Amino acid sequence: MSLVLQHTDLDVVGAELSVDLPDGTTVPFAHLDYAATAPCVRAAADAVQSLLPWYGSVHRGTGIRSQTSTLEYERARDLVGEFIGARAGDTVIFTRNTTDALNLLARALPPEATTIVFDGEHHANLLPWRRPLRLPTPASPDEAVAAVERALRGVRGRDGPGLGALGLGGPGLGGPGLGGPVLVAVTGASNVTGEIWPVRRLADLAHRYGARIVVDAAQLAPHSPVDLATLGADYLALSGHKLYAPFGAGVLAGRTDWLDAAEPYLSGGGASTAVGAAAGDVTWARGAARHEAGTPNLLGAVSLAAVCAALLRTDRAALHEREQELLGRLREGLAGIPGVRTVSVFGDRQPRVGIVSLALPGHDTAVIADRLAREYGIGVRAGLFCAHPLTRRLTGDTGTGGCGSATPGLLRASFGLGTTDDDVDRLITALAELTARPS
Ligand code: PMP
Repeated sequence: MSLVLQHTDLDVVGAELSVDLPDGTTVPFAHLDYAATAPCVRAAADAVQSLLPWYGSVHRGTGIRSQTSTLEYERARDLVGEFIGARAGDTVIFTRNTTDALNLLARALPPEATTIVFDGEHHANLLPWRRPLRLPTPASPDEAVAAVERALRGVRGRDGPGLGALGLGGPGLGGPGLGGPVLVAVTGASNVTGEIWPVRRLADLAHRYGARIVVDAAQLAPHSPVDLATLGADYLALSGHKLYAPFGAGVLAGRTDWLDAAEPYLSGGGASTAVGAAAGDVTWARGAARHEAGTPNLLGAVSLAAVCAALLRTDRAALHEREQELLGRLREGLAGIPGVRTVSVFGDRQPRVGIVSLALPGHDTAVIADRLAREYGIGVRAGLFCAHPLTRRLTGDTGTGGCGSATPGLLRASFGLGTTDDDVDRLITALAELTARPS
């Protein structure tokens, strides 16, 4: 059974793709790497197709192409805003992807802002922050909340000894009484384990300390509603290509004040409303335009919005239920294979999206992934998943060899719309066979 039966606009483009195997047989390609990039769905492809005859410049012309394109671009912004529950006072900015969105926010933070972040984040949410306060990945949601509270107290110098005494201080962060804006940066769901993070609790906590929170929703949005108010988020970032809209658009949405006070992310046309002859004589736009200099990615925005609209029309609870069924099927099957260990940060009972990573002691995960592709027609991902500190920890690699040292890595299976029981069963069978072979 496929994840979606009746919603043709959420049908996967290329679902019928098949691959030839070395034994001469042909099998349907089992795509189990949605967490890297999800396939395109009909809604996104159709949106691009139907806009192409009208395609023209956005915000830059009077002709019918430009007028239509501008209208569709701004309509896309509204739809995406609706999808994430953008509030009055939020700005919805189209970016290239989540990495771009989080870098944009990092650049827009007030200069003295501190960002509290766990070291298990995807690099996109780990590396951009200019004054990061990195916390070790916690062993439970409760520990996550307690660790952020300690850090917030330390940063605020309130009811606490200050960061230096907590052993958390970096340069300029040591003493009590440090004021200034604070941002908590957290993922909605881990790209390594699929586990859902306690975003709402962290948001409430952050707000109690006068801090803000940004949610990296790259992995959460494809699987679960991401409403800014429900999450309690001040900012949210996501990628179109993980949300079935592979045309190069992402989103940063959230509170306007810091965004409007910041230097534009890119300098150029569209971000400037008036430019004088003298160098530096420029008036920058406010709102989304301030950070969208240059000709925007109209097709990316429109296709992303089309998927958002299709998902809004869909029974997402039913999708969730179906996905959890597949997850249960996969985990049960994997549990029966000797030597295969599903990794987690918070433990097996933590709710997850459709992502499972495996440690395969005694095997090279890259070799297994390669054999899955060539011999079984199954696509997964092997490695460290751009979350090196977390993946190294989960594989028992202490990292003493440095960040470039060889490490066994994990094998990740991830799925979503269009995934079938058969895809999952084939992976289980193939892994059982491959791990039984001498490596
Ligand atoms: N955050 C998470 C949790 C991710 O999984 C990814 C992509 N693997 C990113 C951020 C970065 O997304 P992108 O490559 O689309 O910028």
